Amino acid sequence: IKIAPLAADILTEVLAFAGRYKAQKTFAVYNPATGAKIADVADMTAADCEAAIAAASAAFPAWARKTAIERAAIMRRWHGLIYERKDALGQLLTLEQGKPITEATGEVTFGANFIEWFAEEGKRLYGDVIPSHAPDKRCLVIKQPVGVVGAITPWNFPSAMITRKVAPALAAGCTIVIKPAEDTPLSALVLAMLAEQAGFPDGVINIVTASSAPEVAGVLTSHPDVRKISFTGSTRVGKLLMQQCAGTLKKLSLELGGNAPFIVFDDADLDAAVAGAIAAKLRNAGQTCVSANRFYVQKSVAAEFAKRLKAAVEALPVGDGLDGNTRIGPLINTAAIDKVSGLVKDALDKGATAELGGARHDRGGNFYAPTILTGITPDMELATAEIFGPVAPLYEFETEDEVIKLANDTPYGLAAYFWARDIGRIFRVAEALEYGMVGANEVLSSNPATPFGGVKESGVGREGSRYGLEDFTEIKYLAIGL
Ligand code: ADP
Repeated sequence: IKIAPLAADILTEVLAFAGRYKAQKTFAVYNPATGAKIADVADMTAADCEAAIAAASAAFPAWARKTAIERAAIMRRWHGLIYERKDALGQLLTLEQGKPITEATGEVTFGANFIEWFAEEGKRLYGDVIPSHAPDKRCLVIKQPVGVVGAITPWNFPSAMITRKVAPALAAGCTIVIKPAEDTPLSALVLAMLAEQAGFPDGVINIVTASSAPEVAGVLTSHPDVRKISFTGSTRVGKLLMQQCAGTLKKLSLELGGNAPFIVFDDADLDAAVAGAIAAKLRNAGQTCVSANRFYVQKSVAAEFAKRLKAAVEALPVGDGLDGNTRIGPLINTAAIDKVSGLVKDALDKGATAELGGARHDRGGNFYAPTILTGITPDMELATAEIFGPVAPLYEFETEDEVIKLANDTPYGLAAYFWARDIGRIFRVAEALEYGMVGANEVLSSNPATPFGGVKESGVGREGSRYGLEDFTEIKYLAIGL
């Protein structure tokens, strides 16, 4: 594979940078495509996390006092450095995470765009002047940073899930302690390295790499100086964190699991729907919280949709993400592939049909064969589970009301997709779907200006957009007597 040298160079650099993090122990980072060890990083403890919180607390007053223009200048330098090194960062991301190199480089720039956007949006964090209830009083509302933020991030977008939290936090005037996922700490460390080069004051951005999430996260969620937790990950862990935050009543933003329906109506442009299905199902090998998890296809077009989807999926090369031809990479680790194989095996044992795939990929290791299943019944585990792999279960439906009920019949409410051309149907269905994000003839591409987040058990709060910035502020009512 000829594009790896950039990754090798930046790995050397980032490990030299990470040498400052002293810990008694280290933990290993593996390449999910080959199983080879990439590096050892510091396995930090509760005491290290407390030190990081102390640094963030010490840095907070001066960072909060800076003008938005001053903060933006440093943030834009960081954004520029990430763009300059985007190819190297992309390779490093693929090396530890596995996704195809074009997706990895795309994630790096997509993630960096949050930094630029929020740097600018911070300048527009306006307050209010409220018409007074008395002639000798004036009523103002000002917005202030919440304080020190704890961020806990997942491995599926190891770069962008960090910047999507850090950028609005910094723009609002907060300082931050980040606990990256244990599978992908290098993409976090390289962002910290470039942040230092950009000139952030010490203590504004802090990273705590750890193999044991509960130990470090427990400090973040219980420490009185941490005023907000921003978490992206599973619903199970999100609920734990919410409980842990109750003791100090922290603000919380939670981006949790999903169970996205992907609905194809009989008036849909089928080729567009197939292209959408590929994007919504197979990006990151199906390991995203907005991945299509259930395909509902109206009966009259079901056979044709399945045929075209199968042809399209079959054409996608599976392989090492560092190979430029690869469209589907490995799953993140052994636990992930065991889970996906278990779900498919359970469905096949209970009578489902594999129209394509249905087993681990011939490459072995963490590779799973892209799979299309029909004949799913409610007793199969994958009928309700978040699959998180390249597996598409197809269901048939007959009426609009029926499919809306099916689509909403889940505790989750993150993303939903549907394909139809009738304008009345587009509005009816979009409004009836109980989801934080709905794509109509469109897959959802998160971008800095739009609000990302879920309802029901998919989360609390929004990331991106002006709503995402406000989540890092407190409003203060200021009454002035004249
Ligand atoms: P996923 O299923 O995507 O791995 P997790 O919720 O397990 O989702 O992981 C997301 C983030 O939460 C990671 O940084 C992980 O280390 C962290 N995490 C996992 N378990 C816990 C826990 N019990 N308490 C706090 N954080 C956790």
